[in-house]
Amino acid sequence: MAATGDAAYIKQINRSLILQKIIEKKMISRADLSKLTDLTRATISVQAADLLEKELVVETQLEHHSVGRRPIMLSINGQAGFVLGIDLDLGAMTFALSDLAGKVVRLETIPLQSDSYEEVVKTAAKNIRRIQSYCEESRYGLVSVVVGVHGLVTLEEHVHFVPRLGWTDVSLKTDLEEAAGLPITLENNANLCSFAERVYAHPEAKNLLGASFSSGIGLGMMMNEDFFKGENGFAGEAGHMIVVPNGRPCSCGNKGCWEQYGSESALFRELSVKKKQETITRADVIDWIQARDETVMEMMDEFLFYLSVGLNNMINLYNPNVVVLNSELLRFYPEAIKRIEAQLVSDISHYRELHISKLGKQACSLGACALGIKQFFHISTLQLEMD
Ligand SMILES: [Zn+2]
Repeated sequence: MAATGDAAYIKQINRSLILQKIIEKKMISRADLSKLTDLTRATISVQAADLLEKELVVETQLEHHSVGRRPIMLSINGQAGFVLGIDLDLGAMTFALSDLAGKVVRLETIPLQSDSYEEVVKTAAKNIRRIQSYCEESRYGLVSVVVGVHGLVTLEEHVHFVPRLGWTDVSLKTDLEEAAGLPITLENNANLCSFAERVYAHPEAKNLLGASFSSGIGLGMMMNEDFFKGENGFAGEAGHMIVVPNGRPCSCGNKGCWEQYGSESALFRELSVKKKQETITRADVIDWIQARDETVMEMMDEFLFYLSVGLNNMINLYNPNVVVLNSELLRFYPEAIKRIEAQLVSDISHYRELHISKLGKQACSLGACALGIKQFFHISTLQLEMD
């Protein structure tokens, strides 16, 4: 019996490796698969036949090939099933439906009328069921639903605290599963954002930090090609690292937290006072930057200073090779990277690359889709391309 178990286990490992390479290369011949995986041609042949039979891969014969026979290529059958990634943000939910090859086929943002937990669960479940009905024609249907939560999510996928929604200890997973009638995976949004950066933008980065600077500061760490979550799943609450002792009060109960100085909302709050304007939008700030408004340029300097202070500390802690900053505002501030780099001058802090995220607001929902695909195929490393 043990031998049978071992054989099945090895077959599963080989299958994962083969699927991983097919996804990575998009189209690959059996011969190249054998070279890349170090598996024999016979093993590749048997596995490919099985994957074809399950309709998880498809064959394509190349039209133009200069010499010899036209090779038959294998690629993922994207249409065999779908994954749904949901970003459960304050005031809105974003639903990204992706096929199994990572192609996003639907992207919808639905405004939320209320922060009430019951309302949010009801709205999410209704939309999950509606979107699921689009997938019914495919062989595997909707295979995975992953929800990004802007708060503390335990390793057991229990929601411990969502500060901006005011939720404490809610059973979102089971409540949503019951209401939607299918399994749900919960993950912290900052983790999903940094996972998306690795999958879609920096697949070569073994140690990646993804930091987002919007209403607060979220940090996701992909260390040694995997999530770094800590004992409970709460690691990376960098927004509540104290950068100004006895500074501005924070909703967490401390004073002087990083997100009170280095987040976009902190900048907007300060600008609101300086400009005597009640609401400040990102578009306002972008206009002022383009006009080189003196007050705003000074405030931007201060914002970038505090952003860099926290970043310096994070880089010293994690020694990442790639750091990705997700900020809709900094995307429109061309000097941002140069100015931040100029403040990261310590001989101690080491990183290789610093980027502004190109995924922007979609990072969380895309990361959720990617996690669903990774889980469905049981693969350890996933590499996808944006359309
Ligand atoms: Zn705090």
